[in-house]
Amino acid sequence: METKVVRMTEEQIDRERIREAGDILRDGGLVAFPTETVYGLGGDALNPQSSRRIYAAKGRPSDNPLIVHIADMDALSLVVKEIPESAQRLAKRFWPGPLTMILHKSPKVPYETTGGLDTVAVRMPANRIARELIRAAGGYVAAPSANRSGRPSPTVVKYVSEDLDGRVEMIIDGGDVEIGLESTIVDLTSDKPMILRPGYITRQHLETVLSEVEEDNTLMRDDSGQVPKAPGMKYRHYAPKGNLTIIKGAEENVIAFINAHCAKEQRDNKKTGVIATDTTVGRYCADVCKSAGCREEEETIARDLYRILREFDDENVEVIYAEAFEDSGIGQAIMNRLLKAAGYKVISI
Ligand code: AMP
Ligand code: MG
Repeated sequence: METKVVRMTEEQIDRERIREAGDILRDGGLVAFPTETVYGLGGDALNPQSSRRIYAAKGRPSDNPLIVHIADMDALSLVVKEIPESAQRLAKRFWPGPLTMILHKSPKVPYETTGGLDTVAVRMPANRIARELIRAAGGYVAAPSANRSGRPSPTVVKYVSEDLDGRVEMIIDGGDVEIGLESTIVDLTSDKPMILRPGYITRQHLETVLSEVEEDNTLMRDDSGQVPKAPGMKYRHYAPKGNLTIIKGAEENVIAFINAHCAKEQRDNKKTGVIATDTTVGRYCADVCKSAGCREEEETIARDLYRILREFDDENVEVIYAEAFEDSGIGQAIMNRLLKAAGYKVISI
């Protein structure tokens, strides 16, 4: 299949191309497109064949449910059984934006889209290209991240092409994404709202609208005895090809530890890499040292983390060490992804 790549910006939306992309989706085809979180791989959420094609294009296990993206609040009632008050309040405060809600599904949503579940994940993205595309497609676009399963989610279009060229009808290049980590997922189908995946919208943010929010306690540790509530969280995800380990501790100790280990790996002819921050990056002796951003502005780290993981692959780095990040606020989302990328390998010193 020939993949057509089209470019546009949120400020200058190419209506002609959006119509073309919408037609592709209505016909059961696939279009990769930008959202504010990461690039998405879109198909018609109400068409079971489209969902099957998404799984095939990604190489994703079909019990891993997709998020249904909508562009307007009116669209919500068609895909869910009922809209609880909590959902209404969250939507009013955080939509459009990086928040996904789990609700009971309506019969309109095929089980192919929900991975066999009676619940459905719904989000209204803030990116204008995404919203125009969803409207052009008829209102409901199922879209996981636009990467091959197991690879870091793409935050720049280059990596969408690398993973999906020849597997989708169209890729919309809308430039680099803003946030860089997938949406926060909150489950509203049981007694108390529960965060199933941390993201840019934190527990503290959610608690400004809902009185009490719980967290799935498998988020920050590898507890193989317990099955995570979000099916996707059980898969090894976001993984770079190199062997990644997170080093936790006081800054000076972390730097000394990583440098000693890099020197040893280099003696064994291994190509080494470090994920550092702006203030520490100059102090490492690895072959490839990258700053993920500034600790005081964790948004910068969120935005660049996946791109950096991909770049280590591009440069064939075999052993990677990463500094650790905060366990709260957006740092929690960063650490959640980093832990998964590292297969939960953490050394505390
Ligand atoms: P992605 O589209 O790659 O961001 O992945 C979407 C993730 O949302 C899945 O991997 C699941 O973990 C989660 N998810 C989607 N639908 C549901 C659902 N009905 N119940 C729980 N988690 C869900
Ligand atoms: Mg994904």
